[in-house]
Amino acid sequence: MTKCVVVIDVQSGFKSLCDDGYIYKMNMALKEYVGRGYSFLYTIDKHEDSCDFRYTQEYKQYGLHCICDEDLIPLLDMCAKQPDSAIYKDSFTSLYLPSMLTSYEEIVIFGIASEVCVVCNALNLRACFPELPMYVREDLCRGFTQEGHDSAMNVMRACSIDVVNPVN
Ligand SMILES: [Zn+2]
Repeated sequence: MTKCVVVIDVQSGFKSLCDDGYIYKMNMALKEYVGRGYSFLYTIDKHEDSCDFRYTQEYKQYGLHCICDEDLIPLLDMCAKQPDSAIYKDSFTSLYLPSMLTSYEEIVIFGIASEVCVVCNALNLRACFPELPMYVREDLCRGFTQEGHDSAMNVMRACSIDVVNPVN
């Protein structure tokens, strides 16, 4: 069985949402999945400081972010060592990501931020692959707020995504 972990936007530009304990937990989890035979991909949020970006809804809501090289560094060891697995995206949802996942029989998703890029990509993948077993690791996701995080988990649960929170 071919399985894939998708890590969403765990990058230096969102370091403020990643304390050391959280990064450690994600590093350990990713290593464990890979040890169990999972492939992995990761998204990196990347914008140009251009007129086009300054007209987007994302810019209006969140301002300039992830526009320079220092913001694009993967925070997980295995991701940093495997740059070919990076998928760059310039909006919340990577419309390219599903094309990289067509051959898998299970997808596990985690990362940041729960209520923005995690939920957007998870729902898009659910739409593209309605019958695929799909898990979101709640314990490995972080939101801007706890309320936002909880809301995102509830929306994904309501859309047939298996939100799991293993007791460690
Ligand atoms: Zn962005």
